[in-house]
Amino acid sequence: MLTEVDLGQMVQLVKVINKISKEGHTPATGGNFSLRTESENSYIISKSGVDKTAFGIEDLILIDEKGEIYPDYQGDGIKTSDETLLHSMIYEETKAGCVLHTHILEGLLCAEKLSSNDEFIMEDLELLKAFSGQTTHETKIVTPLFENHQDMEKLKKEISPRIKGENIYGFILKGHGLYVWGSNITECHRHLDAYTYLFKYYWNMRN
Ligand SMILES: [Zn+2]
Repeated sequence: MLTEVDLGQMVQLVKVINKISKEGHTPATGGNFSLRTESENSYIISKSGVDKTAFGIEDLILIDEKGEIYPDYQGDGIKTSDETLLHSMIYEETKAGCVLHTHILEGLLCAEKLSSNDEFIMEDLELLKAFSGQTTHETKIVTPLFENHQDMEKLKKEISPRIKGENIYGFILKGHGLYVWGSNITECHRHLDAYTYLFKYYWNMRN
């Protein structure tokens, strides 16, 4: 069963999910959210198909690294998102302690209209310092872009090699959404907040 610490983190994660949904980034039950637990190779993740505006602690479940739900959390109609594999992949390839995935509109518009290749570049803005390890606005943060696909194994193969770098904080599935990670919930949420603002900035700056 979960430890006390995990329970505290679950409460924090629910608060973050409620905030993100109020901001309008999880329409029509979209988005999924997860945490690495203290025990190895197990993760807390949001149930699939739940309205995120009414999301509660009972909507978080425990899974293993293959996305299988632990027996204590199994039940009628309880399932994980098809995208659970992408969360596992991020935990495998990075030191992430938390992964947040939203369907942020401006991120998709920037990826589609303001990028000429398979990455979106943000540079020379004060808020880039919100990303862990960045100490000056004179920096460049690259966000890899991928075509959306329902075949998660195929996506995993494409994405894995491109998210290993130190200064990679997230990626975009075009026409779908943004995946962001951080060492814990607070850092991950700060990265998401920064992305949310920066995407709006770039979208409003377009000619
Ligand atoms: Zn999604």
